[in-house]
Amino acid sequence: MAREYPLAKTRNIGIIAHIDAGKTTTTERILFYTKKIHRIGEVHEGAATMDWMAQEQERGITITSAATTCFWQDHRINIIDTPGHVDFTAEVERSLRVLDGGVVVFDGVAGVEPQSETVWRQADKYKVPRMCFVNKLDRTGADFWRCVDMIGDRLTKHALPIQIPIGMESDFKGYIDLLEQKAIVYTDDLGTTSKHVEIPEDLQASYEQHREALIERIAESDEELTLKYLEGEEISKEELIAALRKATIANKLVPVLCGSSLKNKGVQAMLDAVVAFLPSPLDIELPTGIDPDTEETITRDVSDDAPFSALVFKIVSDPFVGRLSYLRVYSGTMTKGGSMENTTKGKTERIGRLLRMHANHREDIDEIRAGDICAAVGLRNTFTGDTLSDPQKPIILESIQFPEPVIELAVEPKTRADQEKMGIALGKLAEEDPTFRVHTDEESGQTIIAGMGELHLDVITDRLFREFKVEANVGRPQVAYRETITKQAQAQGKHVRQTGGHGQYGDVWLRVEPNETGKGFEFINAIVGGVVPKEYIKPVE
Ligand code: GDP
Repeated sequence: MAREYPLAKTRNIGIIAHIDAGKTTTTERILFYTKKIHRIGEVHEGAATMDWMAQEQERGITITSAATTCFWQDHRINIIDTPGHVDFTAEVERSLRVLDGGVVVFDGVAGVEPQSETVWRQADKYKVPRMCFVNKLDRTGADFWRCVDMIGDRLTKHALPIQIPIGMESDFKGYIDLLEQKAIVYTDDLGTTSKHVEIPEDLQASYEQHREALIERIAESDEELTLKYLEGEEISKEELIAALRKATIANKLVPVLCGSSLKNKGVQAMLDAVVAFLPSPLDIELPTGIDPDTEETITRDVSDDAPFSALVFKIVSDPFVGRLSYLRVYSGTMTKGGSMENTTKGKTERIGRLLRMHANHREDIDEIRAGDICAAVGLRNTFTGDTLSDPQKPIILESIQFPEPVIELAVEPKTRADQEKMGIALGKLAEEDPTFRVHTDEESGQTIIAGMGELHLDVITDRLFREFKVEANVGRPQVAYRETITKQAQAQGKHVRQTGGHGQYGDVWLRVEPNETGKGFEFINAIVGGVVPKEYIKPVE
């Protein structure tokens, strides 16, 4: 059967942004313009946005990393949600691992913020081709060019504006397209109608300067065009667009666009640019894998006929369909009702339903092919980072690396019933999120949860209370000093180094003295961290 959408017309992209830069609003506008939602609702009012969870709406942060499919200009675009808070960097990593290109959204007033730098570096690590969308240009204090300079200074030398905003702040009304050489001004509040206008006189000089710079920099990225440019030959629009696409995919150039999602300006042009410049699954290097039997390295083609391989990048417990495993298919085809091998775990999985998630509905599909993204229902032993593959031709794909948790909290359920509920809930949460860990402290008997930061654990405990209805107290873990000191000090005879479980940032160092009986040791003081002051290391007779 022919593909509904050829690979060349598929985009797997992420909207990447610092929290509050406007990722949710931008995503919502994308879904509006791609006709998947029919009403623009204010963000966080429970409209059809990608933020499904109540607390995300309340807090205005996006935590889940689901994937939503939409269509633009005959292309299928899968938008992989990436969280914007630094506490969720592991979530960002796993989405970056499976997407082919990214749109990085900036607040046109704040410009490049610390967390934009963090996600930018992460995207660098995975060599994700990207473009920038300088949002919120309607805000007082917005400055497109300052933001472009900040991107150039702090993030990349390769940033290249392909638009010039017309008007700024409350007067922001459109943009000049430097490639098309056209000025566009919006004529209604929904941004659905626009008209071409003459290039405004006050922008003429800026237009000429940036158009020249654009041609020069695109030409530089391509040998043939460099020659043409040097010889003063005309370079056509088509040549410029093709070369910019190549350079963007090779991470040699980063197109920069302008807009205001809230005021419905610039979003369609940004979608045009996603189609024009961001890679299709055919343009990217496929991850390598190893054959679990021979341990040889294998590379596959992104083809429907190749043996099946997919990477699971998110597990979500969905209130309606149960456990969803989001996966990115790299090669081959998987059909519903069939079986696949989870090569990472060495277990066979039956594939129940396959779902394509749209903004406001789920579509049951019969099969999923190379280069595409969907959610599978019915996988029991599969977790984030696992490979699913053809049982006859097994492969374990290069997986996602998860950092170790850095912060711990103790959770004490209020009643026995809560204890039971909590056990189940924490198990589920840990299953969804590989950077969230749970253990029982041997000495204090407390349940300890560990995660990537305060907000991360805050979100987890919030879900515990709200979603799983567990009543519990949350606090700092107790440190059971005495016993450990006695045991370890006796064993070592010198200083005591208590490892694991107790320190927020690693080891806890304890200062001890022999006690009156001369057999045990008295706890004097403790310090958390790596560098131990001399007086803590006390020889003991
Ligand atoms: P996220 O945290 O990146 O998902 O950001 P949101 O989309 O939730 O936006 C954060 C805030 O900025 C919300 O109050 C939005 O209404 C507002 N916002 C988003 N885009 C724009 C814009 O283009 N102009 C203005 N003035 N405000 C915006």
